[in-house]
Amino acid sequence: KPIVAVVGRPNVGKSTLVNRLAGTQDAIVHESRGVTRDRSYHDADWNGRQFTLVDTGGIEPLKSEDVFSASIRDQALAAAEEADVVLFVVDGSVGVTEEDESVARMLKRVKKPLFLLVNKLDNPDREQERLWEFYSLGLGDPRPISAHHGHGTGDLLDEVVSCLPDETEDAELFPDALGVAIIGRPNAGKSSLFNKVIGSDRSIVSDIAGTTRDAIDTYVERDGRRYRLVDTAGIRKKSTVYENIEYYSMVRGLRAIDRADVALLVVDAGIGMTEQDQKVANLAIDRGCALVILLNKWDLLTEDHEREKVMETVSRRMTLAPWAKALRISALTGRSVEKIWNYIDDAAAARATKVSTSALNAFLTDLREFGHTVVDGKRRLRMHYVTQTDVNPPTFTYFVNHPDLVSDSYRRYVENRMRTKFGFEGTPIRLHFRAKS
Ligand code: GDP
Repeated sequence: KPIVAVVGRPNVGKSTLVNRLAGTQDAIVHESRGVTRDRSYHDADWNGRQFTLVDTGGIEPLKSEDVFSASIRDQALAAAEEADVVLFVVDGSVGVTEEDESVARMLKRVKKPLFLLVNKLDNPDREQERLWEFYSLGLGDPRPISAHHGHGTGDLLDEVVSCLPDETEDAELFPDALGVAIIGRPNAGKSSLFNKVIGSDRSIVSDIAGTTRDAIDTYVERDGRRYRLVDTAGIRKKSTVYENIEYYSMVRGLRAIDRADVALLVVDAGIGMTEQDQKVANLAIDRGCALVILLNKWDLLTEDHEREKVMETVSRRMTLAPWAKALRISALTGRSVEKIWNYIDDAAAARATKVSTSALNAFLTDLREFGHTVVDGKRRLRMHYVTQTDVNPPTFTYFVNHPDLVSDSYRRYVENRMRTKFGFEGTPIRLHFRAKS
């Protein structure tokens, strides 16, 4: 999906705008579980055109000592580099700030469709001067919007959508190949891993340069099975300084995940699993990718207590998705790198699981008999029927009398019972609860 990046200083209204443009309904946040609520990206659809909105405000700077404005500027630049359209949001009630100017200077060098959005002008007709002030940024006509009230957002979406690239998918050489994305923070060891995997393996089938953007997939064949390592362009050749910006791991990851079946999350074991790692893991889960966590640089950990500490960070960060397996590797020494393929295969198989109707019926009978009862006043949750509606990832629809009685914790409970019964190791599963009386 094309990416629309929303950049600008904190508090100018970026997230409000993202929610407004995506038409985010906060009532349906639970479609898949294991997802943090403070998502910094949203899928949007305008007149049938789909794209992803990314709010750069949700991304922390890599180093805390980063100069504030420099980091915003760098995020903005990285955003612009990766995005198809850039929305630069400024605060009309404050006027032009130094940071705005610094971001603007950067954005000017990137030749991407850009919209300069002046937010928080409650009465643009009477506040013309405030608007005109933003011409000084040299980014063309400033457009007044109200992220809060939604004024001007429909027209804006029309124009944004008209700037999106044509969605001609790259033809895939081997459509049956399993898509594998290598994702993770800068310096986690993605390139090293990629080189190790490719170097030790003579069976690269081909590199295909995508016709759109710089997506390069690498095809690998092993034991008669084909794999497509997704979007390895940024991994094999580090071309820009922006690689060092967290934003990159996010947006690059997002793009790769969209075209993958299995995500390999490379974590720097020297640091442990961080919040950013967790966010990237959630991206993969949310988008239905199977997930394997690779604890790289394991060679650096020589003491038992160090190793335990790292494992602790993993279980803490992955409490909502404990089904993801973690493999300790070293891209440097090659430790356990060979094992990765088995982990990929297992996760992919779990993701393709089809459970028979009779097994599902037996499960439901069991759940009704020995499961928790959910009651709310006089109402009691009854589960009538369950059916698998999709694979990759396995998706189940439960027909119940009162879907609103299904709480987050009950949903988790049902998922856990299903996992105990059917496995699904390494893959997210989706549960839907529909009304049927
Ligand atoms: P990327 O940004 O995720 O692609 O990370 P790189 O592959 O460029 O690796 C970042 C740094 O970590 C480099 O200096 C690598 O040599 C180093 N590195 C990568 N894997 C390992 C590993 O398994 N052990 C150790 N000790 N260092 C590693």
